[in-house]
Amino acid sequence: MKKIMAVNAGSSSLKFQLLEMPSENMITSGIVERIGMSKSVFSIKVNGEKIEETLDIANHGDAVNLLLNKLIEHDIISSFDEIAGVGHRVVHGGDKISESVVIDEALIQYLEEIIDLAPLHLGPNLTGIKAFKEILPNVKHVGVFDTAFHQTMPEESFLYAVPYDWYTKYKVRKYGFHGTSHKFITQRYAEMMNKDIHDVNIVIAHIGNGASICAVKNGQSIDTSMGFTPLEGIPMGTRSGNIDPAVVEYMASVKHKPVKEIINQLNKKSGYLGLSDLSSDSRDLVSASKEGNHQAALAINVQAKRIADYIASYHNYVGGAEAIIFTAGIGENAKETRENIGSRLAAFGVEIDDKRNNCRGVEQLISTDHSKIKVYVIPTNEEVMIARDTLALL
Ligand code: AMP
Repeated sequence: MKKIMAVNAGSSSLKFQLLEMPSENMITSGIVERIGMSKSVFSIKVNGEKIEETLDIANHGDAVNLLLNKLIEHDIISSFDEIAGVGHRVVHGGDKISESVVIDEALIQYLEEIIDLAPLHLGPNLTGIKAFKEILPNVKHVGVFDTAFHQTMPEESFLYAVPYDWYTKYKVRKYGFHGTSHKFITQRYAEMMNKDIHDVNIVIAHIGNGASICAVKNGQSIDTSMGFTPLEGIPMGTRSGNIDPAVVEYMASVKHKPVKEIINQLNKKSGYLGLSDLSSDSRDLVSASKEGNHQAALAINVQAKRIADYIASYHNYVGGAEAIIFTAGIGENAKETRENIGSRLAAFGVEIDDKRNNCRGVEQLISTDHSKIKVYVIPTNEEVMIARDTLALL
């Protein structure tokens, strides 16, 4: 039995989960928030109960020290040596990283070189990695990359039809994100069906606050809806998904705002939130639309239409998907949204079973026995995937 820490470091937050491997049992989880601000918040689950403290945490190094000492204080570990490995979620691996890797100086240098590809996330990821490595220098640290699973996409999927040197000189291409989740689902589906992973042809709809669709052929990602950044693809909680890029220049000019500000609005003020003028949270929209709120219903329908469009296209691209999988917050929990999307795929013989679909957060077949494509809910677990990859590299 080994204890492995899965870490997700953001600019002012640090989420962690301690897992026992290979059993994959979660020992504890928690989060440090508002790092570097006053009144930072540390919370941790001890025996299923959430314990929260407000204190000042100046930087990521202090956050790491605090959380490790809290593990000892709460008798979760007796010394730092009990942690066999730390798996770090890293948002971007550029086009050189196609699997999880041990973090050494060369890798840190490479990530620093590509930092412009995702400055808002890669910077904080690196800060988290450095803080952990300093405090746990004798432990193996592993990078698990959101983009890695999609490195199997062929050129025809990942290239944009723009001047070719945008790709060769400036690395402009589709990278795709949520790879850790799509990989977990692919592995889990193969396991559930008792199949060799290389025989898996499915379409995965990861629909949470962020959302992406993935075409999996022979167990590998061959296309995905997110692109150079997570903004591309389907509308999300606050992201627009695809729009005509000419809108950006037009809105910048009519609003006398810099392009950066318009892109910010596409990332933070669009999607569910933008269309509904109400909320980025699917629960709010589902209940408002039941009460007759037109914009809330519209926000849900615009997204459902685009998701169905992607699934239809990817079903074709994988050569006929054997299953469509719903996962993440909305995919796992919102039966109304699954039914909405399923009904838009009727031309392919997709039939959602009302009774089976009446489920939340469990592995479940939700299509009828007659459905031409099977539809499943499979809860995702990125932390387990991070811990598995870390264990494999110890
Ligand atoms: P995630 O980013 O995967 O954590 O997913 C967050 C999204 O899942 C939010 O829009 C939540 O409203 C949504 N969600 C969670 N539980 C439910 C539920 N019971 N019904 C509808 N949406 C839900």
